[in-house]
Amino acid sequence: MTTQKLIVGNWKMNGSLSFLKENLSYWQTQKIFHQIVICPPFPLLPFAKEHLNSPFISLGAQDCHNKVSGAFTGDISASILYEVGCQYVLIGHSERRQYHNETNELIKEKGETAIANHLIPIICIGENLQEREQGKTLSILSNQVTTSIPSKGSNFCVAYEPVWAIGTGKTASLNDITKAHSALRQQLGQNIKLLYGGSVTIDNYLEILSLDNVDGVLIGGASLKKDDFSRMICNEPANSTR
Ligand code: PEP
Repeated sequence: MTTQKLIVGNWKMNGSLSFLKENLSYWQTQKIFHQIVICPPFPLLPFAKEHLNSPFISLGAQDCHNKVSGAFTGDISASILYEVGCQYVLIGHSERRQYHNETNELIKEKGETAIANHLIPIICIGENLQEREQGKTLSILSNQVTTSIPSKGSNFCVAYEPVWAIGTGKTASLNDITKAHSALRQQLGQNIKLLYGGSVTIDNYLEILSLDNVDGVLIGGASLKKDDFSRMICNEPANSTR
């Protein structure tokens, strides 16, 4: 049985051309074990595409518009992302929901537009702290799945990212992740990749990846630590085959 997982690095509004160059040239010398997606800021994508030559690393964008094209200054279309070499796109990240008021309905449209333009959307869902404390986690997730998952097309991933765990150093417990992913698996079926995100680090990623129904991780802060991220993507778990 393979233990190869999907590891997605979300650089957010961080990194630089020199950081990208440094990472790319280092990764090309390494034996990468997992399937990797890096999501640097938009302007770095064409450079990354031009210099990437590993079958294990793909490019992802951090957002796309719900419309195919039009008068939307400052926005970016799924078709151009595909044209410059993206295979994946993050949709509905909690920072987009929080700072750009993105709703589940908009996120659903974005996912459908992404799929129609040959991208694999990674739809982010997750409860906030208040919802968690009120014991509403599973009902919130179920509602987010119902309202924000594309109804056209099935080539998408779902990332469970508890909002209170993103960038805070607080990770959901292994038990919480197991419960959430098992509920998501029941609702979404066997074919959808389920990722966990929220303060994943070099110290906890192996335990998280070993859980049932966890097909990968979405990593923010730790994807900007060159040595840590490189170890995470190259680390072949014990007794694995590919
Ligand atoms: C994220 O940006 O999706 C994320 C999970 O960030 P961090 O790993 O820093 O919590």
